[in-house]
Amino acid sequence: MTTTLGWRDEDVRGFGMAVGGPAKVLRPTTVEQVAEAFADVRARGGTIALRGAGCSYGDAATNAGGHVLDCTQMNSVLDFDPATGIAVVEPGATVRDLWRRSIAHGFWPKVVSGTMSVTMAGAAAMNIHGKNNYALGTFGDCVSWFDLLTPRGELVHCTRESDPELFHAAISGFGMLGCFTKLGLQTKRVHSGRLRVWGIVADDLDHNLRLIEELRSEADYLVSWLDLHAQGVALGRGLLHRADQLRPGEDPEGLCFFDPNLQDVPTKLFGLVPKGWLWPGMWCAVHLKQVAFVNWAKFRAGCREQKHSPYLQSHGAFHFLLDYVPNWQWMTKPGGLIQFQPFVPFAEASRVLRKIIERLQATGFVPYLGVLKRHRPDPFLMTHAVDGFSMAMDIAVSRNKHRREQLWKVCRELGDLVLDAGGRFYYAKDAVLLQSSFARVHGEPAVAKFRALKQRWDPDRLLQTDLSRRFGV
Ligand SMILES: Cc1cc2nc3c(=O)[nH]c(=O)nc-3n(C[C@H](O)[C@H](O)[C@H](O)COP(=O)(O)OP(=O)(O)OC[C@H]3O[C@@H](n4cnc5c(N)ncnc54)[C@H](O)[C@@H]3O)c2cc1C
Repeated sequence: MTTTLGWRDEDVRGFGMAVGGPAKVLRPTTVEQVAEAFADVRARGGTIALRGAGCSYGDAATNAGGHVLDCTQMNSVLDFDPATGIAVVEPGATVRDLWRRSIAHGFWPKVVSGTMSVTMAGAAAMNIHGKNNYALGTFGDCVSWFDLLTPRGELVHCTRESDPELFHAAISGFGMLGCFTKLGLQTKRVHSGRLRVWGIVADDLDHNLRLIEELRSEADYLVSWLDLHAQGVALGRGLLHRADQLRPGEDPEGLCFFDPNLQDVPTKLFGLVPKGWLWPGMWCAVHLKQVAFVNWAKFRAGCREQKHSPYLQSHGAFHFLLDYVPNWQWMTKPGGLIQFQPFVPFAEASRVLRKIIERLQATGFVPYLGVLKRHRPDPFLMTHAVDGFSMAMDIAVSRNKHRREQLWKVCRELGDLVLDAGGRFYYAKDAVLLQSSFARVHGEPAVAKFRALKQRWDPDRLLQTDLSRRFGV
């Protein structure tokens, strides 16, 4: 059967570039085109992966040999109510599109990722968390309703009340039950365009964990950068960033930062050097094995930052540090990178995270970036959150096949350590886990429920990704 839809052959990879493959890609602009694409591929017995901005590090939005529906062209913020802070968005609207609209009215998204490129549908499908997960929950907690186009072509309007099962499974369900075509989201009131920020030095892992624990009842945002090259008594040292919102009237000058243009991260370093030129320098640091030195220098800079804290910083500058260097992930070319992010219950965090760092150091897979966050459980079916900590680690992947396989093996071993401790994983950041781990992450009853929902809403298994096949969903 021939198709009139404009599917294009492309190489579709995860953000980390280490996994993915060729696929036929379509970029619909309307819900009708999404429905047409579903019907077209179903008629031909193929599979479709839904895709947003492709910011998932691994294979959550890739479909090697199949079709990919890239929703980034359906990207409008359709409505924003300045009285309530409720936004209505299309699936491909990004975190940036949302805050640019909301900040002008004194609102900011409740939950944002470390990059503003993420789409609303991608955020909902993965139920993303921010640096305030321990306090405000996940992205799903700010979703009031969504419209979901099911693979059979039915458009379902869903709220927590109308269909609690579908609501809590489609959010977190990594694009397996249908295509989000519209979402209603609650944003939060802010009284300044800036945050009060502290840099706080943590001498080792336990100090880091303790600081976060002590501050979490009063701080609005907490996130710790880790120097994962440090060893011995300094193992797990880093710089914790705390940020608090300002009270009404506390920062009159900060009101001018309601101008969206003042929230964007600058495109030039020192106003001169285009940031697009920075990744080659970082590539040199990785390939000339200077990452340990860069981490050391960053830690020293953190000690100076502590002395000058607190200071005021725009919301955008605080949240989207990773956007300061466009295409920074290219520094790991040609092998790319994976991110490994275990979520470990509070009581086990110190022991398990320490072991992970030591093992990665011993095997020579030292992450060039480590980030520690505090989380809390949430009601979504395929949730990654636990009452505890996560440690996100970016690890460069070698082109050498043996070394790459070794990395996958070490991460799977560490995965078992995390699962034995009652921990979880997050599929936006995974490329390595085996099917056997999937049931251990969520428990058999949750996985059975998810499979039953998949059978109900997508009986032909039209929606598939490399990740869903890896887990046998
Ligand atoms: C630099 C960087 C920093 C990050 N920081 C954080 C962070 O702080 N916190 C965090 O939680 N995550 C973080 N992430 C991960 C990111 O938030 C998630 O991977 C998110 O899902 C990416 O959204 P996306 O639009 O790129 O979607 P994609 O990665 O393209 O897809 C993600 C999932 O959404 C599904 N999907 C896409 N569109 C639809 C649709 N219309 N309907 C249904 N399902 C759909 C896909 O099938 C896939 O399963 C970060 C990623 C990067 C690259």
